[in-house]
Order: sequence, then structure tokens, then C-alpha cells
Amino acid sequence: MTRTKNTKAKNCAPDVEDANKLKVAAGGDIINAFIIACTMYLAMDKGMIAHWRKEWIKPWEGKIYIPDKQVCDIGHGGSTCSYCKKYGLKENGVIFWHPKGRTVEAESGLKSFITHRNTQPREYRLFPYTQETVERMVAAYARFPLSNREINRRLDAMATKAKVKRRITPHGLRSFAIDNAFEIFQGDAEKVSRFVGWAPGSDMAKEYRNDWNYQKALNEGVKRSLI
Ligand SMILES: [Zn+2]
Repeated sequence: MTRTKNTKAKNCAPDVEDANKLKVAAGGDIINAFIIACTMYLAMDKGMIAHWRKEWIKPWEGKIYIPDKQVCDIGHGGSTCSYCKKYGLKENGVIFWHPKGRTVEAESGLKSFITHRNTQPREYRLFPYTQETVERMVAAYARFPLSNREINRRLDAMATKAKVKRRITPHGLRSFAIDNAFEIFQGDAEKVSRFVGWAPGSDMAKEYRNDWNYQKALNEGVKRSLI
């Protein structure tokens, strides 16, 4: 099942050429750029972007801290959004958004919603593009101003403008960010896991690393054959 999911995400991911075109298509629009920066570089998902608030940013550390949970008020007129109505964490009549990820068993034996996806803050200063974009976003907005659905619309419009080869989804952009992280951290699965928010020894990390090793071997083979 995990494999299918993984493959699906990869099928909706841009190649490097299209990734650059998407960046160009985002252009100077701060919201477009923020969507690209968070998904395609920082491996964040759509829910994180939609629920983003300025308080998540610690500029002195250069990091985005994604909370374990946050009261959801991003629906119509400050109500709970449809996603959180369905999947949110309900406590004493209050509905919280929480990052997607694996539900882990707490030591007490109670199911806990603390997920591995958000255990590590995102280091937005790792890339000049994400640093510039996050700084501009913080200067302009206190919270993400559009709905979850609008993120897809924005992305579709950018993909059309960029004339990319295939359909691009936020999940696919996250997949691109993970591959990119493998390149940056030279196949170090633990570093990548910390970067994208996976649990240590994650199966997903192993799958992605296998792909990365394969691609690397392939590229080296191509280089050798050209000599
Ligand atoms: Zn919500």
C-alpha cells in the first residue's frame, strides 16, 4: 500500500526542468511562491500550508515549527474547515487541526496524535528561494489567506502557465522535495527523514533511498558509457 502511494506521488511530481518552470510561473506572487516553497522545497503538505500561521516561523532560528495541534478556524467565517470537521482532533467540543502522519502509540498506551511528520521543524534557510519567500510571506500575512481548495487551483494555474509535461499535485511536489533532499544529503536516509518529518528508520525513507541509489547508479552508468 505504501508503495502504491509513493508511486502515485512520484507520478504527480515534476522533473527538474518542470520544477524550474513552476518556480518561474509562480513569479513575484507571494502566495504562489509560498505554495511552491513549502511543497517543492520543504516537503510540507497542503493542510500545513492552509493552516499556516506566522507564529510558526522563528526567524532567529530560520525554522518553521509545525504545531502538534492548532484550533481550526480556517473555514467559512472562522469556523472549522471541512477537512478538520472530518479528520480533526476533537477535545472538549473544540476541533483542532493536526498534521497528517502516522498515529503513534503513546507510552501510556493511549493513542496519541503526535505524528512524526511534524517532529522536526523545517529549515527554511536551507534554500535561498525558501528563505526569501518565507520572509516575504511573514512580512505580508499573519496566516495563510486562502482555502485548502484554492491551493489546488493556484497550483493548476501555475502548471498550465508553466506548460509542464504532466499533472502536478501538492503531494507530487512533496515527493520532489524528498528526492531533492536525498540529493542534498547524499543518500543519508536519517538526515532526509529528519528534514521531511519521517520517523527514524521509516520504510518510506528506505523506498526513496532505493530509488535514489538506482538513479545514481543509472547516471553513473550513463556517464561511463559516454567515455
Ligand atoms: Zn482545518
